[in-house]
Amino acid sequence: MFFNSLRYDEPVFRPPSEAYSLILQVTIGCSWNKCAFCEMYTSKKFRVRNEHEVLDEIDQVAGYNPDVKKVFLADGNAMVLSTLKILNILNHLNKKFNRIARISAYAIPKDLKNKSVEELKALKEAGLKLLYVGIETGDDELLGLINKGETAVSTVASLQKATEAGIKLSVMIINGLGGRKYSHQHAVNSAKAINAIQPEFLSTLVLSFPFGIDHFKKRFEGDYQEMNIMDLLIEQQLFIENLELNGAIFRSDHASNYLVLKGILNRDREELLTHIDKAIKSPELANFRKEWQRGL
Ligand code: SF4
Repeated sequence: MFFNSLRYDEPVFRPPSEAYSLILQVTIGCSWNKCAFCEMYTSKKFRVRNEHEVLDEIDQVAGYNPDVKKVFLADGNAMVLSTLKILNILNHLNKKFNRIARISAYAIPKDLKNKSVEELKALKEAGLKLLYVGIETGDDELLGLINKGETAVSTVASLQKATEAGIKLSVMIINGLGGRKYSHQHAVNSAKAINAIQPEFLSTLVLSFPFGIDHFKKRFEGDYQEMNIMDLLIEQQLFIENLELNGAIFRSDHASNYLVLKGILNRDREELLTHIDKAIKSPELANFRKEWQRGL
């Protein structure tokens, strides 16, 4: 939810599930800003917002809407801030909004690496309940080719710290990230990483090309071979087949997904796999999103 009195530095992104949250920009852009597929913050130079300005904005919103229940800290990785700075913001939010139930943010694994479990616990106690982390893939080769600045081991270790601190995780994987050549290893190794993390929420998006496929190919450091819808579904099937999860809420319903999938994993795994299998074998009967049907 955007509030008129706030001076947003556009563009502003938030997860779909934060549609009714107060979006509070505590940083601008992404401190990494180098992933080959991501254009979200390439128009911005990363900076930390002045703390007084942020606290003042909280006061302004509290003045006319003291009943805010959910707050999302933007932009790309608010968790890059020092623990002390985040705590000051969380404490101010708690002071101004009596009914606040959840504060969340995007994070990148290296933000968590630099914080101890005790620090993360303190943030959780102050209301930081959920982190959204795009790990994109659990395959080391592909992590290098997209310039993520992480390995599977660094990703898993960082996210396990958040879990140990009691912070819930919503983790994203990108279907089709490496193209046909890296598809198998992407699916299998992403499932392995997700199994080690055991997030509460898991979602998959499909790789998209906001500036065109040639632009992406220039930034991707491997041999990107474009995938069609069937290739993407086969990759998705292999990924789900390899998951071993203890009750994660799974969603593949972002606008980029061709086939909407929703369920609890592993409880609904067979049902989801059957659904994908039917779509692969009989695409003409599958419930693909209308706008994609031409692409079959
Ligand atoms: S870390 Fe996230 S926001 Fe930053 S460039 Fe990579 S994908 Fe984009």
